[in-house]
Amino acid sequence: MNNSSFDTDVLIIGAGIIGLSIARELAKKGIDVIIVEKNRFAGTEISSRNSEVIHAGIYYPKDSLKTKFCVEGNRKLYNYCEKYKIPYNKCGKLIVSTSNEEINKLYKIKENTDEIGLVDVRFLSKKEIFNLEPELQCSEALFSPTSGIIDSHTLIQSLLTELQSFNCTVAFNSKVEKINPESNSLMTEVHGNGENINIHSKCLINCAGLSSQNIAKKISSLNTDLIPKQYFAKGTYFTSTKKAPFKHLIYPVPENHGLGIHFTLDLSGKSKFGPDLEWINTEEYSVDISKRKKFYDQIKKFWVNIEEKGLVPDYAGIRPKISGPNDEPADFIIQFPQQNNINGLVNLFGIESPGLTASLSIASEVGSRINEIL
Ligand SMILES: Cc1cc2nc3c(=O)[nH]c(=O)nc-3n(C[C@H](O)[C@H](O)[C@H](O)COP(=O)(O)OP(=O)(O)OC[C@H]3O[C@@H](n4cnc5c(N)ncnc54)[C@H](O)[C@@H]3O)c2cc1C
Repeated sequence: MNNSSFDTDVLIIGAGIIGLSIARELAKKGIDVIIVEKNRFAGTEISSRNSEVIHAGIYYPKDSLKTKFCVEGNRKLYNYCEKYKIPYNKCGKLIVSTSNEEINKLYKIKENTDEIGLVDVRFLSKKEIFNLEPELQCSEALFSPTSGIIDSHTLIQSLLTELQSFNCTVAFNSKVEKINPESNSLMTEVHGNGENINIHSKCLINCAGLSSQNIAKKISSLNTDLIPKQYFAKGTYFTSTKKAPFKHLIYPVPENHGLGIHFTLDLSGKSKFGPDLEWINTEEYSVDISKRKKFYDQIKKFWVNIEEKGLVPDYAGIRPKISGPNDEPADFIIQFPQQNNINGLVNLFGIESPGLTASLSIASEVGSRINEIL
């Protein structure tokens, strides 16, 4: 194997939406950035296996990072889409109750949005619901006008193109194997393309998604108490051969660890239903046709004309959770050097939904603190 060595200001692990967004933010400031990515292409893990929804920040506690970055990220992402011609549709979303018990949950969601200050989230009258979605079955509906959908693949391509224009290196087929903090830098050993590369960086940002904990465990002097326990929560999607009658996103009231099997469109007009929630131990993306009945039963609650046989397995993604099935949902974790006691090290853990929406805002946060890190 050939050996080589590089120096850079910042090394980013992972060319998912988070790593690319942070790299762009830093490269725009004139900072020298390298991204290493173990796969052949960008964004092939969590970032291309999600609902592609631009969320409004409705569900999370007021003082959480999820709320802060989602609310800011929502505005930033729409602005980015406008500026760089990324396909999107600010179609709005209805969160619906289909039983008495769910009505109370809907009122709790409304209380939360009032507390956060999302003034445009409101209950619809029966007539408004009918006018917006004549085939929708529900007792009450909350409307969020700033929720929408985005073509995440074009977004990823656009970020890559921008990075190219800043001369930022994105090294594919490059897997991080070892990290040793040194006196004034971090040394990261990367294997790939028949080479063994040592990269010395003043700052190392771990945005490895499902592998963030594995990467953190490779950092020789990191206190392991700072690495949160990892849980994988798989989410499966089905599509429908029958054209869905909805123009808005339709969500049931959320479950403890997921938003429930909802209806979304993609920008080609294809209907998607999902994701469900299944706790798994290893990364795998099979789609189990035997889940069809469960999907049918859930969807039928708000779309009575759904046909079970028309539901076709589509794809699956995995949420990088840091809270387990019996825990309360956890917030995003971004550990800066002050928290992890290693100069130059930034670790991101648990960047599940709404991470796509929050991406540009998480990037701004890291960008605003980079001078104190370098
Ligand atoms: C089912 C599901 C639905 C979702 N729906 C939405 C939604 O509608 N809206 C929303 O806002 N968010 C949603 N999300 C969340 C969103 O998709 C994620 O928060 C976001 O994509 C996370 O991006 P990332 O860059 O952190 O991770 P990834 O995209 O997984 O990127 C991490 C990268 O690190 C690389 N890597 C790992 N280990 C190494 C190594 N050793 N060396 C080099 N590279 C390495 C991986 O190959 C990968 O490419 C959803 C997530 C899921 C799972």
